[in-house]
Amino acid sequence: MTNPESFTNMKLLDRVLALSSLVGLAEMAYIEADKHLNVLTWNHGAITLFNCSEQEAISKKLDMLVPIDKKKLLECPNSEKITKSIIDDNGYKLWYDFLITPIISIKGEKLGVSILVKDISKEIQKNSDLGEYRKQLQEIYEFAPIGIYKADMEGKFTLANSQFAWMLGYDSIELLIKKSSKNFYNMFADKKKAEKFKYYLKETELVNRFRCQLLKKNGSSLWTLSYAKLVYDKKSKVTGFNGFAIDISETIHAENSLKNANEKLTLLAVQDGLTKIPNRRKFDEFLANEWARHKRDRNELSVIMCDIDFFKFYNDTYGHQEGDNCLVQVAKAIKNSIFRPADLAARYGGEEFSVVLPQTDSNGALKVAENLNKCVEHLKLPHKSSKAADYVTLSVGASSTIPDSNVSFEDLLLRADEALYEAKKTGRNKAVYKSF
Ligand code: GH3
Ligand code: MG
Ligand code: MG
Repeated sequence: MTNPESFTNMKLLDRVLALSSLVGLAEMAYIEADKHLNVLTWNHGAITLFNCSEQEAISKKLDMLVPIDKKKLLECPNSEKITKSIIDDNGYKLWYDFLITPIISIKGEKLGVSILVKDISKEIQKNSDLGEYRKQLQEIYEFAPIGIYKADMEGKFTLANSQFAWMLGYDSIELLIKKSSKNFYNMFADKKKAEKFKYYLKETELVNRFRCQLLKKNGSSLWTLSYAKLVYDKKSKVTGFNGFAIDISETIHAENSLKNANEKLTLLAVQDGLTKIPNRRKFDEFLANEWARHKRDRNELSVIMCDIDFFKFYNDTYGHQEGDNCLVQVAKAIKNSIFRPADLAARYGGEEFSVVLPQTDSNGALKVAENLNKCVEHLKLPHKSSKAADYVTLSVGASSTIPDSNVSFEDLLLRADEALYEAKKTGRNKAVYKSF
């Protein structure tokens, strides 16, 4: 029959042996020392780790072998974990957890100390890699020249980089996120755009290159190119969105300047610089179009040519600058004398003006021609050297036709010019109509 006591002892011994082989398998160093720190156990792991044979270790005190304070080893009232680094033969710094436990007898008497050493270099490395990675990301996030933020679905900011805060006129991220009542949506200068942004985000989960004007802290605004993407939690529930905003105020400013410059250029190309009415180029283009249209529709088209009487004398008498002023006044009077939106009055060149009257017959043309004549006379711009009147006057010639393939609009103009010539020849300050 087996002695139950020896069975328990056997089991205990088995368990200690099993534990010891497990420690060996785990490549952990296991050390035991008595209460005077004389080494009693020095396993294979310890030999490898400390590069010291068992024989050598047993002849030494524990505090000479491990990087733990002697006082700690002697006292060690409870189990304790101490993390230490050891420089290996190749000069690499390796990290270990020293799990120190007092060896206590059944009677509670302290017999010595045991140490289990666990290599944690890989873990430390992993954490430090992660830390480094996080640090680098943080640097990029803070250094990025664009605003980066995180918001919940109500648009309330939960995170932002300094650039985003500065863009919006806040001195710090904290002032924007915590101390301001602002959320992304109520920052939109255009509320309809805010709704559009929200709609795109919800419907497509993504907003790309969205141009919007955001209100700054001081009430002014800036143009941004905004991007956003929904963010989900582990249960695939939407928690908010990540956003990016690029300040494009300068681009918008440049675009607007370019647009204005283009508009000005377009206008310059078709407008007379002095009188601000359409120029010769516009007149030619307009007449050519109307000619083609009237030919197609078989409608009557009229043109009028006007020329200021004795304008050379006017310049000679009042000076060139006054001459310019006079041209401006006459152009205004001519422009105001034509009423139909389809009509066009232009500066033909020098002191000559021309008018196109779409869908207008000879009667109408003569009426407008006479009206032009009267309107300029009624300006009563003194012209003491004129031989036609005491005031600045016009001679006017008109002609009309239904365009056909045998003639061109130049022919019609020539006819109106002949009428003008006749007006000049027969006393000036009058309108003459010549049929085509
Ligand atoms: P007529 O009654 O026969 O038309 O005589 P006129 O003196 O008006 O005609 P002429 O062709 O001899 O002279 C036209 C003048 O118009 C000559 C020129 O100095 C003047 N003129 C043309 N363009 C401008 C301009 O832009 N500004 C000024 N101030 N004068 C101009
Ligand atoms: Mg002339
Ligand atoms: Mg003239």
